[in-house]
Amino acid sequence: MANISIAGVTRSYGTFTALHGIDLAIADQEFMVLLGASGCGKTTLLRLVAGLDQASGGRIKIGDKDVTDLPPRQRGIAMVFQNYAVFPHLTVFENIAFGLRMKKLDEAAIKSKVQKSAELMHIEQLLQRYSGQLSGGQRQRVAVARALAMEPEVLLMDEPLSNLDALLRLEMRAELKSVLRESKTTTIYVTHDQVEAMSLADRIAVMQGGKIVQCADPVEVYRNPATRFVGGFIGNPPMNFLPARRAGGGIEVAGQIIPGPATGTPVFGIRPEDVAEGGEGPQLTGTVRVVEPLGAHLLATLTVAGELFRAVLDSDRKIAPGDTLTLTARPDRIRWFDAETGLALP
Ligand code: ATP
Repeated sequence: MANISIAGVTRSYGTFTALHGIDLAIADQEFMVLLGASGCGKTTLLRLVAGLDQASGGRIKIGDKDVTDLPPRQRGIAMVFQNYAVFPHLTVFENIAFGLRMKKLDEAAIKSKVQKSAELMHIEQLLQRYSGQLSGGQRQRVAVARALAMEPEVLLMDEPLSNLDALLRLEMRAELKSVLRESKTTTIYVTHDQVEAMSLADRIAVMQGGKIVQCADPVEVYRNPATRFVGGFIGNPPMNFLPARRAGGGIEVAGQIIPGPATGTPVFGIRPEDVAEGGEGPQLTGTVRVVEPLGAHLLATLTVAGELFRAVLDSDRKIAPGDTLTLTARPDRIRWFDAETGLALP
């Protein structure tokens, strides 16, 4: 069993606290993504699990073993970090074979495992090249192939696809997902790319300011963000927010009174794809500012009740800046947040 338990883990650098008491339980064979803006502590947390850095407090367990004070090589993990640590003076083959040689596998087994993981990362034609002669994206794939070749029970990856162009990244993402599922690897994967997070994760842990603000499956995080921050961070374009106030037994939003939460100081939230022209629900009228045809649909930016508001519309819709548009919010997709705490309101 390779479940991972992170309990009360903190990390401070002098007076700065990078991680505030992280609790996270990752199940055996689970694909956990750590997602958050730059500087939120994702890499710091991953380095602690890897043993590349010491926690200031708390415990980390892998399976039944408390690894908090163990060096990386005694933790039974493979990792892909941002600097790759690919040896430039070794060929791609030897780089991928590196860990397998340490395990003293026979030559035939090494060859077959190297070949297999090189094929997965589409670098089989580079096996005899020296790694120092590779592009950043090729080196990054060598690092991933080397980790996969180890067939680890636990794999830790920090932005392993960040240097690939969009198309290759899409392809590698699908390869990684399928191979790690098949090999039943427990994975922690750091990214700030939310599409990557949504596509790969069994669960996403969204981090902000050294804390986990929500940990749930991707659809739940998307549909029911625990905080206003999560709603605004996940989704491209992000969730729209409009000011609201209690009035006439309901809540006033954009000049009309609608039902809403009984407690708190509500802020109204709706995703850009959850509004349409026509249909039942609260009406939001605004002025079109920018129209962006995106192929599959059209993205309109409006001002509604003095706030910027984005709507995803049919690509055939003809609108222009200056037009007045009335949109209907899908009632079942409206979310409420507290203006002071940012927490979702029931
Ligand atoms: P990115 O997506 O940019 O890699 P991240 O979420 O991985 O960001 P971390 O690298 O974990 O962020 O850093 C978290 C915070 O801790 C940042 O504010 C960073 O400046 C700080 N930090 C990290 N390492 C150190 C260090 N060695 N000394 C002081 N501060 C550090």
